[in-house]
Amino acid sequence: MTESDHQRPDPPTSARPLSVAVVGGGLGGLAVAIALRQAGHSVDVFEQAAALGEVGAGINISPQATKALSALDLGPALEEAGDAVTGQIQRSLTTGEQLAETRLAGEAAARFGAPYYVLHRADLLGVLADATDRARLHLDKRCTGVDQDADGVTVRFADGSRHRADLLIGADGIHSRVRACLYGEDQPVFTGQMVWRALVDARTLPPGILGPHGFCGWIGKGSHLMTYYLRGGQILNITTQSDADAWVEEGWSAAGDPDEMRAAFPGATPDLQLILDAVTSCSKWGLFGREPSHQWGDGRIQLIGDAAHPMLPNAGQGAAQALEDAYVLGRWLAVRADDPEAALAAFRDVRIPRAHAIQRQSRLNSKLVHAGDWERRQDAFRAREARGDTPLGMNWIYAYDIESQWAHRVEYPLSHTDAPLDGAA
Ligand SMILES: Cc1cc2nc3c(=O)[nH]c(=O)nc-3n(C[C@H](O)[C@H](O)[C@H](O)COP(=O)(O)OP(=O)(O)OC[C@H]3O[C@@H](n4cnc5c(N)ncnc54)[C@H](O)[C@@H]3O)c2cc1C
Repeated sequence: MTESDHQRPDPPTSARPLSVAVVGGGLGGLAVAIALRQAGHSVDVFEQAAALGEVGAGINISPQATKALSALDLGPALEEAGDAVTGQIQRSLTTGEQLAETRLAGEAAARFGAPYYVLHRADLLGVLADATDRARLHLDKRCTGVDQDADGVTVRFADGSRHRADLLIGADGIHSRVRACLYGEDQPVFTGQMVWRALVDARTLPPGILGPHGFCGWIGKGSHLMTYYLRGGQILNITTQSDADAWVEEGWSAAGDPDEMRAAFPGATPDLQLILDAVTSCSKWGLFGREPSHQWGDGRIQLIGDAAHPMLPNAGQGAAQALEDAYVLGRWLAVRADDPEAALAAFRDVRIPRAHAIQRQSRLNSKLVHAGDWERRQDAFRAREARGDTPLGMNWIYAYDIESQWAHRVEYPLSHTDAPLDGAA
């Protein structure tokens, strides 16, 4: 299939174009604005920050998310901005022994139907921003409230202004104000996991240090690190995750101390120690979440991305799921523009089971990877490899073909995500 072959959403025919307000100019908000504009609608994006921005860190775009971006005509820009990954190896954090390998190129890429990319987050946001109508992107606009009636939605902003639209998409992240307006204040809870993030100059490190794919995970008891190259090998990205009893900072992220970060991984194998020694600045995050929920929106208001389905990063799927949301919502609002509330309900019907299953898999992956029982984890990795799956059982997520499946609801029984973990939960 080439870029131009893919099915385009049917343009609204008898229905008038809808006016849509999107709250949040992150990855999900910009992607949904692009999808809805391609579906023929009139879209305004409202972002609270004075400038578009992303944290200084890497992000994985798994094959099915690549397919969603390609379906939004962003395939060439993604290829230009990102690095296609041929695979990943997992090593022991303390001994350096290789524990598993995930192949993502060749036969695997053919099975998944698209490449797996890594990007600097700012570069991915740039791909989306370049395809966004800048005249309709309103910065410094913090949403403080929303009201809906039979004819539309009114969004209120901190500067006292208001905006009226037919529909509202809440893409305002895990601390979503739109969500709070619909369902009341409920603070996301600390997941018992914390993260360090750092970018280092890869030229200061031996070239082969991340193994054959330039992507290496380091697994230990109660913690792991993901390390991979960005921007053609110039930058080495480090993202860690550790079990933690409590998160004491007031906010949910904080500047970190590189020495404290290094000290968090005692007994690191020499290659990993070299990488940690190269860290000169870092940030420290507490991971917050919510249980899978059906509170995804109501009437003319729809939540997407982390506002609807926050998840632990252990499947690398939070942004990927926001991109899937964007494409599927664009399709439904193309074919059911005559009845937008029915379109939103159909979107939820398709998306909720898949997002819930991925939220569950993310949590289970975290338990498996951090398990103290080394043999049990290795058995689980080997069992999946033997049946042609990735060590973390991700085939069902990566092989999803969004262009043919966007209107299909698939039920994923709990056992679908529990069973592949071979009892690790
Ligand atoms: C350590 C870590 C690693 C991760 N790695 C990956 C990965 O490799 N692959 C992957 O797919 N996902 C990954 N994720 C998850 C991913 O980062 C998120 O799921 C994704 O960024 C969610 O996008 P979003 O647009 O829904 O929300 P956000 O990125 O949170 O964007 C929300 C936007 O809304 C704005 N906003 C908030 N409130 C308001 C308001 N009241 N008014 C106006 N604007 C507002 C914010 O300023 C922001 O711009 C990772 C997450 C973490 C923590």
